[in-house]
Amino acid sequence: MSYSHQGQSPLAPGAPKEHNNPMGIIDLLLSRVCRLCDMPINADLDLCPPCWRSLPWNRLPCPNCAAPLPADLALCRHCALKPPPFERAIAPLLFEDPVPRLIHAIKFGKGYSQAKLLSRLLGDAVATADDPLPDLLVPVPLTTGRIFHRGHNQAILLAAPLARRFGIPLRRKAVRRVGRTATQRGQSRAARARSVRGVFKANQPFAGTVAIVDDVMTTGATTAELARVLLEAGADEVVVWAAARVGGQASSSAPAQFR
Ligand SMILES: [Zn+2]
Ligand SMILES: [Zn+2]
Repeated sequence: MSYSHQGQSPLAPGAPKEHNNPMGIIDLLLSRVCRLCDMPINADLDLCPPCWRSLPWNRLPCPNCAAPLPADLALCRHCALKPPPFERAIAPLLFEDPVPRLIHAIKFGKGYSQAKLLSRLLGDAVATADDPLPDLLVPVPLTTGRIFHRGHNQAILLAAPLARRFGIPLRRKAVRRVGRTATQRGQSRAARARSVRGVFKANQPFAGTVAIVDDVMTTGATTAELARVLLEAGADEVVVWAAARVGGQASSSAPAQFR
């Protein structure tokens, strides 16, 4: 199975693997079901092929910030005007149904299977992009209060399987959140950038390439601020891995930041 964030059609998951997968029979015995439609499946992705095909794939992303692009542009207008402090971003999905449901389950419930699924899709996009792998993964931190309230940070739930899959160290506490971000809904891009200024502090020095891992990237203001802090603390370059991206035009009606 593969997925290209460069606009090629994703291939359907699963089936051919059965031939050389002695564990396939175990999948059948365990009667797994699709996470979205409850159809029994034997693929290894927790999704049936029709649900997988109908996911809102981010087929033509800006190579810098992963915002979905009109077909005639090579770079989004924001990146053309002012490139973000991170080098590039990968976000295989758009923040459209059913992705908000999956992310909501991870944020506010015990959505471990949803986290596993999104992490897998993000990892496939990273593998297909074939960029040099980063030296370190840093999940976007929550405020201590929010972690206490919810018991987990969804960015860590996404990042941990990626760290295992690619053999990259994960630093959960390398950065802390020192301020709470006011809701960004309806704010202009410049106002969003101002509202996140100073909310992150590095707990350690950095070096090499650092990948920021997040669930959903909205305008990129939070991500850009975190990238700025990582670079200031010594990172050579910062890349972004997010499961989903809010569309460029949809920014003004973007979801409220949950953290
Ligand atoms: Zn399904
Ligand atoms: Zn862009």
